[in-house]
Amino acid sequence: MSQLSEHRFLEIKATGDLPSPTGVALNVLEQLQNREVSTDDITSTIQADPALAGRLIKLANSFNRGSNGSRPVVSLTETISRVGPGVARHITVGLSVLSTNMEGQCQGFDYHQFWSYSLAMGISTELFSEREKLFPRDEAFTVGLLSNIGRLGLANVYPDQYSKILEQHGEGPINELLVAEQKIFLTDHLEMAHAMMKDWGLPAVHYDAIPGMYDLDRLTSTNPRTRSLAQYLNLSTRIATLCIQEQTTDHPLYRALEREAIKVGVDAQELSSIFENTLEVWREWRKLLDVPVDEAEELEKTCQDFKISPELIDLEQTQDMGLQVLIVDDDESTTTLLFQQLVDAGHTVTIARTGKEALQLALENKPQLMITDLKMPEMSGFDLCRALRRTRIGQKIYIIAMTADTEEKSLIQAFKAGADDYIEKPLRPNVVRARIRGGQRVFKLLQAIKEERKENRRILAELAKANKHLEQAALTDPLTNIPNRRYATSRLEQEWASADREKRPLSCMLVDIDHFKQINDEYGHDVGDKVLFEVAQTLRSAARVGDEVCRIGGEEFLVICENTDLAAAQITAERLRSAVEKLTFSVADQSLKITVSIGIATRHEQDTDIDDLLKAADIGVYQAKSNGRNCLVTISERNGDRKKGPPKVAPQPCEVEPLA
Ligand code: GH3
Ligand code: MG
Ligand code: MG
Repeated sequence: MSQLSEHRFLEIKATGDLPSPTGVALNVLEQLQNREVSTDDITSTIQADPALAGRLIKLANSFNRGSNGSRPVVSLTETISRVGPGVARHITVGLSVLSTNMEGQCQGFDYHQFWSYSLAMGISTELFSEREKLFPRDEAFTVGLLSNIGRLGLANVYPDQYSKILEQHGEGPINELLVAEQKIFLTDHLEMAHAMMKDWGLPAVHYDAIPGMYDLDRLTSTNPRTRSLAQYLNLSTRIATLCIQEQTTDHPLYRALEREAIKVGVDAQELSSIFENTLEVWREWRKLLDVPVDEAEELEKTCQDFKISPELIDLEQTQDMGLQVLIVDDDESTTTLLFQQLVDAGHTVTIARTGKEALQLALENKPQLMITDLKMPEMSGFDLCRALRRTRIGQKIYIIAMTADTEEKSLIQAFKAGADDYIEKPLRPNVVRARIRGGQRVFKLLQAIKEERKENRRILAELAKANKHLEQAALTDPLTNIPNRRYATSRLEQEWASADREKRPLSCMLVDIDHFKQINDEYGHDVGDKVLFEVAQTLRSAARVGDEVCRIGGEEFLVICENTDLAAAQITAERLRSAVEKLTFSVADQSLKITVSIGIATRHEQDTDIDDLLKAADIGVYQAKSNGRNCLVTISERNGDRKKGPPKVAPQPCEVEPLA
């Protein structure tokens, strides 16, 4: 496949009509390129868009339910910490494009069906890619979801022409549609999707699969992951078609799908499970999309919840502000008269003598109001209105048509072309004033809404920050000031997922204070608390920068060591053990010594989830205790089934002599 030239793409992009991620999604993209950004920062950015946040949580839960049936997440922080911050980029981009393009101007384009179809593509691609764990699930979902974005791009930029093409080729073979698109637009929807995804900063390994979506021979990338992704996209186009046609496995299309699936090693049973799963998740999701969440409404509701006055903007204050006005007429006496009246009233006025000149001035100067004659040589006022209304800038202008012909038919035609109001010629100053006041009201209302939304967003961002502190507190152990059990579990799950994805080792160690009960009994609970605090700080200082030390129980600590194999974990553990051993507490003229026993485990191929890993570390602690305490035990074998009782583990010798 040829690639869309950068020049041609920029030309299309310059129309301002291409679908694109919202401001929040763009911020997330930007933040993710910066490695220093924390999950918390991303969370507060997304929180500024409640509709998006809601959909993200919903999506995270639908991923979850499919995999391990765990408790659904309810907060955004939890969502992101559970599925990993990488999820934010992909899902946020996909969802933000999706939620702002639920309708559009292209008559022949079924926007609703398009999103239904794209959604099925996303779900199905995600399920296929799970087979080989080629990509994280959220990434595969987003590529599927956006794989058809080129169609939406063409529909938005060329609504009328694309309508005609779809009328002729929409139902026919895909190749004919691609050829027709190339003929008219010098590009097709595959090239467009490729260029748009690239433009949004998604990785090449994703967008390079798009050209092979219908025909693998068109793939130019040699990356095996991209190739597999293209194969799954291909199968997903068929599944998505079956979904939107509400077909079952009896349909001939399904049998064709089965034949294609076999070719890439997906057998009938696996295919049917992916198909059924796609259908189920898709039906649930579609319900959500059928009721688009109104962002403004949500913002207002949130503000009410927090008792913020909706009258943040005083409409009266802006009442006397002048407008930017463009006058368009080939008749000089009209423009001179109108110019004077408007300038005297405090407006800033520009004059255009032809429709073409007006079009250019309007797009350059972005006036708030345009007063245009309808009958002009070359480009009429009707044509001017129509042309402007097709552009994003033009849609925001309040247009008043001037006409001597107030026949109903002619007025209807003006309104149809996009005029908001009309003034009868010859002009009467009082009428002009009244009509302009109408435009002024509309414009100011729009501006007030915009300001109000801006202010609401700012307040929401503040609230998100405050929330963040509260949530932080909920994840911290108050006695030792280090992360608590809740945090530890979610962090370990997150590290587990990324170790899985990136094929990296993951180790953890359980650290248990020896004979701690005796300290409480002999010196009192307060001394016990002090010891806990000191041990926590010591463990934290002795651990490496990337290790996470958490308090997960009374006198038990969990240390999570990402990207760490057994040998490296053992070295760290020994450092922790010896650091605690060196601590000295003075209590009532006595010096008190503390030791810890440590169980070490690394993610093993037989482990199915974090519980297996934790269980192994726990067995290690148990063995260390029976080996005499103040020592390490590494559990490297998995001999038993954790669900049927403790595994038979061969204890390894203590590396440190137990204290006498
Ligand atoms: P072992 O060497 O076998 O681990 O013996 P141990 O005494 O350390 O273990 P055990 O589990 O019997 O006792 C743990 C004690 O920790 C019991 C409990 O009272 C105490 N503990 C739990 N939480 C706290 C706390 O927050 N502060 C204090 N001071 N003590 C606590
Ligand atoms: Mg204990
Ligand atoms: Mg203990």
